[in-house]
Amino acid sequence: MAKYTDADCRLCRREGAKLFLKGERCLTKKCAFERRPVNPGMHPNTRKKPTEYLTQLREKQKVKRAYGPLTEKQFHKYYEEAERMRGKTGENMLSLLERRLDNVVYRLGLGVSRGQARQIVNHGHITVNGRTVNIPSFSVKVGDVIAVKENKTKKVIFDGVKNSRVIVPKWLEFDSEKLTGKVNALPNRDDIDLTISEHLIIELYSK
Ligand code: SF4
Repeated sequence: MAKYTDADCRLCRREGAKLFLKGERCLTKKCAFERRPVNPGMHPNTRKKPTEYLTQLREKQKVKRAYGPLTEKQFHKYYEEAERMRGKTGENMLSLLERRLDNVVYRLGLGVSRGQARQIVNHGHITVNGRTVNIPSFSVKVGDVIAVKENKTKKVIFDGVKNSRVIVPKWLEFDSEKLTGKVNALPNRDDIDLTISEHLIIELYSK
C-alpha cells in the first residue's frame, strides 16, 4: 500500500468525521474539521449524492484510517476473525480493533493519538506482562498488564501523562504514577469512542 503522506486533517474532512489523529490539536479550535467540515480539495461541494456503495466504502475507510492506517488485507482479517466469533460480526470487529496494543496505549493516555501510540509501541517502549512487545497489532486479553518499560518512563513523551485529562475506558485501569495499565474486561460496543456505523462495513463485505 502506498504510504499516505498528505495532511492527516484531510482524512477527517474526507470521511466527514473527527478521527482524532492529531492529539491535543483535535480538542482545540484549530481542528481543521471544526473549521471547515467539507471535503478537501478545490471543489469540495461538487460531488453527487453518494450511492449506497460509496457510503459503505467511506465507512470502511474511516475505520481503517482511525485505527491505522490499516491495509485492506489487515482490515479484512479483522472482519474474517469477527465472523468466526459468536455474536454480531460488526461489534466483534470493533472489539478486535479496540484490543490492538497501539489502541490500548492510546486509550490509557500514554500517547496523544493512535499514531503516536503506534510509534511508542514500535520503538519498544511498552511491555505486556513484563515482556517487550513492539507489534502494534498485538491483541490484548483480559488480565494483561501493559506498562512503560522501566528505563523509558523518564522519556519526554510521557511527561504529560500524570496530568492528562484522558478518561480511561471502563474495560481498562491505569496507574498514572507507575505508568501501568491492566485489561479488566474485553471492550464492548459502548466502549468505542468513535462514531461508527459498522453495519455498513458488514453489508459491504457481505456482497
Ligand atoms: Fe485534524 Fe484532529 Fe481535527 Fe481530525 S480531529 S481534523 S486530525 S485536528
